Amino acid sequence: MAVVSHGCKLNQFEGESLAYALERRGFRVVGVEDDPDCVVVNTCTVTSRGDRKSRNTIMRAARIMREEGLLVVTGCYAQTDPDELRKLGGVGLVVSQRDKSNIPGLLEKHFAGTSSENGSETGPFGFLQSLHSPRSRAFVKVQDGCDRRCGYCKVPLARGRSVSRDSRDIARALQELHGSGYREVVLTGINLGSYRYESLRLSGLLTYLLRETASGLRLRLSSIEPDCFDDSLFEVVTDRRIMPHFHIPLQSGSDRVLRRMSRPYGVAQYRRIIDRIRALREECHLATDLIVGFPGEEEDDFLKTVDLVREASYASIHVFRYSPRDGTAAALMDDDVSPSAKTDRSARLAALGRSLHYQFCKKFEGSVREAVLEPRERGYIGVTDNYIRVHISGGSPGLARNCLPVRIDRVTEERTEGRIVELSS
Ligand code: SF4
Repeated sequence: MAVVSHGCKLNQFEGESLAYALERRGFRVVGVEDDPDCVVVNTCTVTSRGDRKSRNTIMRAARIMREEGLLVVTGCYAQTDPDELRKLGGVGLVVSQRDKSNIPGLLEKHFAGTSSENGSETGPFGFLQSLHSPRSRAFVKVQDGCDRRCGYCKVPLARGRSVSRDSRDIARALQELHGSGYREVVLTGINLGSYRYESLRLSGLLTYLLRETASGLRLRLSSIEPDCFDDSLFEVVTDRRIMPHFHIPLQSGSDRVLRRMSRPYGVAQYRRIIDRIRALREECHLATDLIVGFPGEEEDDFLKTVDLVREASYASIHVFRYSPRDGTAAALMDDDVSPSAKTDRSARLAALGRSLHYQFCKKFEGSVREAVLEPRERGYIGVTDNYIRVHISGGSPGLARNCLPVRIDRVTEERTEGRIVELSS
């Protein structure tokens, strides 16, 4: 049995959960190259590149698998375009997003020779929380879907309307993870800021989790849309247990382009949000997503994005080249930015992003920060509160998942190096 996932952190979490649930049912989970009798490809469709990568994985799995093997396709691409994937050949089963968390049950039936039809629906929060993931920081799914219709985005077509997980379930999962040695969880969703369960919004959920879970557990937030910040959220993110790491998608620094994208905020509002965050958590790692080459984006619009990126001094940026996605409003617009202009703009922003990342890390050279340790072949990566990944050589074995003070000794453009303070001083 093998599980391969593409795309965002939420999809990765779901794939890991499937592997864990399969192991719990007695299946042996191996790599695709290790002759599995079944491969589950958990696809992504956020960009045309996501589609291409998913198709390549499916075709590769079909090529290398035994003839009697079973190829299962699921995830966002399988939800929006099941027939396109069925046509690739070799695909035995296409499983919808709704039934994804039930894949271990379906496979158990299939291999027992009973039915492999989609059975009982387990829904978006039916994924088992792995307590033995190779990661040192646990991803916890708290929300799925999105009610918005940003012009370029196909995700709502794949994931449906926004749904939120019962806050008590989330608290229980966090406590269990803490009991298993985890010291950090990443609260994850498609549109985390739209969390709403009974009377709780995201700020209420965080207040509740801070009260109901162990004080030694740190909480990190995945991305939050800018207009989801309100006074109560600003207030709760000052808590020291919430990591000073905020991913706030900008997409464009031009109001004209933001309007064409149907993004519900303007540049001035966005600036106010990041200024306020910085005032509250000065040390914070500010990250963002940007799209280049959206229909109608002129060089002048792009330069506004560059200016805002420079001014915001992001610690990291994620740049996407626009590609039209079927079923979205922007797919009906003229895709009028040439491929070479998209490539050029993307390269210019990526270079700026690398330089800003270096400057951000350099500011902390010589300082000591609390970091969760992820094991590597010869040592650890320490992930600091403000999301600097520090390469640590050596260190005693068995420190994975621990949260320890790490001194940042040396920052170069390639990497950041440091050591665990407790063991060396
Ligand atoms: Fe897509 Fe916009 Fe929803 Fe984000 S907020 S998932 S970009 S529709």
